[in-house]
Amino acid sequence: MTNNKQIGITQISQSCAKIVKINVLRCHFVLAKMSMFVYNILTMIKLDQIWNNILIEASSKVPSALAYDLYINSLQPVGLYRDRLILLAETRAQKNIVENHYKDILKKCTNAVFPSIIDVEIIIEQDLEHVANVQKEVDIPVNANYVNAVEEKVNFVTQYTFENFVVGKSNEFAEAVARAVAENPGTKYNPVFLWGGVGLGKTHLMHAIGNRLQRNYPEKKIMYVTCDQFVNEFIESLHNSNDPDAMKKFRAKYRKIDVLMMDDVQFLANKEGTQEEMFHTFNELYLSDKQIILSSDRPPKEIKIEERLKTRFGTGIIADIQPPDLETRIAILQKKCNAKGYKVNFNVLQFIAEKITTNIREMEGMLNRIISYSTLVGGDPNDMSIVNDAIKDYADASTDIITIDRIVNATCEYFGVTKEALVGKKKNKEIVVPRQICIYLICDILGQSLPLASIGEYFGGRDHTTVMHARDKISEECKNNASIANQVKDIRDKIYNR
Ligand code: ADP
Ligand code: MG
Repeated sequence: MTNNKQIGITQISQSCAKIVKINVLRCHFVLAKMSMFVYNILTMIKLDQIWNNILIEASSKVPSALAYDLYINSLQPVGLYRDRLILLAETRAQKNIVENHYKDILKKCTNAVFPSIIDVEIIIEQDLEHVANVQKEVDIPVNANYVNAVEEKVNFVTQYTFENFVVGKSNEFAEAVARAVAENPGTKYNPVFLWGGVGLGKTHLMHAIGNRLQRNYPEKKIMYVTCDQFVNEFIESLHNSNDPDAMKKFRAKYRKIDVLMMDDVQFLANKEGTQEEMFHTFNELYLSDKQIILSSDRPPKEIKIEERLKTRFGTGIIADIQPPDLETRIAILQKKCNAKGYKVNFNVLQFIAEKITTNIREMEGMLNRIISYSTLVGGDPNDMSIVNDAIKDYADASTDIITIDRIVNATCEYFGVTKEALVGKKKNKEIVVPRQICIYLICDILGQSLPLASIGEYFGGRDHTTVMHARDKISEECKNNASIANQVKDIRDKIYNR
């Protein structure tokens, strides 16, 4: 629902609307400072809302969409300490990159939206114990319009559009369905279920639908949520003893919308309470012809969820995305180069596309690596010796990308344990250490392309905090315990066939 105080927003294009809106808000802040009573109200605002809004600002300010995706979007807000926003990075490498390259932009974005927040601090999990007394909910002077904007506006990644999506045989059906639903939501295809392997464009297509819907139907309330977010919000509402209406609010939030997009619904597996909630949310929206769009890494019938939900998920249209063929992969690389202004020859693009066949994100990663390496050494990204140097550590030249299975197999072989035991429940020392080392290596090698929750799921439905714990424990051990460090090195060599 568009707030009627933001006059005219429905009539102008989406991008203009955003600029106008932000400027209107800034204006309100200035006016509000001059006349507190008229324009400002002190509103209790949640950390997630604050962070979401900073992300909206940052998504248009961080120069590369990939960098935004990898380094900014994955930061987690920890809390506010006085005038400082504390953000948690997933790895030390991410923390360093953000501090060295993006902290100033982040500070500016934060300060532009919330003038009372002056600084940002990036921490990693080990630092969490030193963080005390942070606020998760704050009274911040916010204009009434602004609070609504925070709640209602979804920050779709601006670069994830249909125009930037390359269509080939492997994804043409999914793309056509996505376009159709973006033009006419809630009519023909409901629900839409997109499925396919990691890094094949599911999230890109969902954001493309979102961007198009926001432009075509600015008055509609569109909600995009990752399954993890939905699960966490549900659990938080369930256990919120401070607010007896928390559950009611949670339900209202998800049931008063026009379009619900939920990404990675395979993470509903083993979460019975959330499945039940999702079932009712689904029914309510579906019965009132509201559009539902879901994504998953597998088809509905293969998700480990209750039957009635599986049936619901599969009642509309199911569209799969397969790994693209060579021509499409080259065309995707070409498109990314055009978007970023990289001048890379066809033969280098072909070389990359032949090397990485099943994950577009990995393919983009290799392209970026070649560009950053050539910039670093002052070389030409079209010089094959530079290209080869840049990707030396990526994988053995004769092999394709590293998969989770490959890391697990190498670990099992090295320790002489079975895969069932490694991913199983046993907690004796003989299996716990190999399991933790394996998780550490998966995070280290595939961390940017694989959410922690999906690693947890691979390891018998463990929670993402268990994955984080294993990863950080072995990371520490590698520094202090030569025997563990050697084991990690030996397995890594095995994985890379060195
Ligand atoms: P998934 O959600 O399936 O894991 P993403 O949507 O996150 O994958 O896609 C990973 C990366 O690959 C993104 O940067 C996305 O823009 C890019 N990508 C995937 N498919 C295409 C495509 N057909 N055209 C352009 N870019 C693509
Ligand atoms: Mg995704």
